[in-house]
Amino acid sequence: MTAIPRLQRGQKLLLATHNAGKVAELTDLLQGFGLDLVSAADLDLPEPDETGTTFVENARIKAHAAANATGLLALADDSGLSVEALGGQPGVYTANWAMNGSQRDYQLGMRRVEDALQAANATSPAQRRGPFNATLCLAHPDGRDDLYVGRVEGTLVWPPRGDLGHGFDPAFMPDGHDVTFGEMSAATKHSWAPGQPGLSHRARAFALFVEAALTNG
Ligand code: IMP
Repeated sequence: MTAIPRLQRGQKLLLATHNAGKVAELTDLLQGFGLDLVSAADLDLPEPDETGTTFVENARIKAHAAANATGLLALADDSGLSVEALGGQPGVYTANWAMNGSQRDYQLGMRRVEDALQAANATSPAQRRGPFNATLCLAHPDGRDDLYVGRVEGTLVWPPRGDLGHGFDPAFMPDGHDVTFGEMSAATKHSWAPGQPGLSHRARAFALFVEAALTNG
């Protein structure tokens, strides 16, 4: 039988996010590991200010805030699009680019990225490249943490295509595919299986997390 070094079946794991799209993906990815999942939104935890300037810093802020508030093991994700023609923007500020007052509006967020690409004269696919990045941070109640980083290269398309997925999915076409994340089933976008890291940035970070924290590989 495979030993589970750190996370045990039945163990409570707090998904340290209020983003429903992330909760859905992480819940899918964690299916079958027998963990008892609860989200920051379920517990009505406050959202910490993301004051970091890197995905790692912000993932740690979110994971530790949730672990400290609850005494639970907490898994946070910080992610975003780093468009080369925009000097890596929106990057860690991807969520901010989708803010309309106090509401998230991803159509507006995608439009802002497109406007910035147009302003940079980035019209050909080769000029519209940039990876989606995800950093997962598992924070332990004793203050330790572990980090797992994933990325997927791709191209920004306009107009956005597809109504599947969440966030900026309709504007992102991963390399090797002629459909956007918004046109892919959840299984295609972020499925994970042993030895198959998956397609999305989050699924790739998750594969490293599984290898280190859920099985002995
Ligand atoms: P944060 O990690 O909470 O700072 O937010 C990351 C931003 O990137 C959010 O606006 C997300 O919607 C967006 N984002 C992250 N991962 C994905 C994804 O897999 N698909 C679409 N948008 C994403």
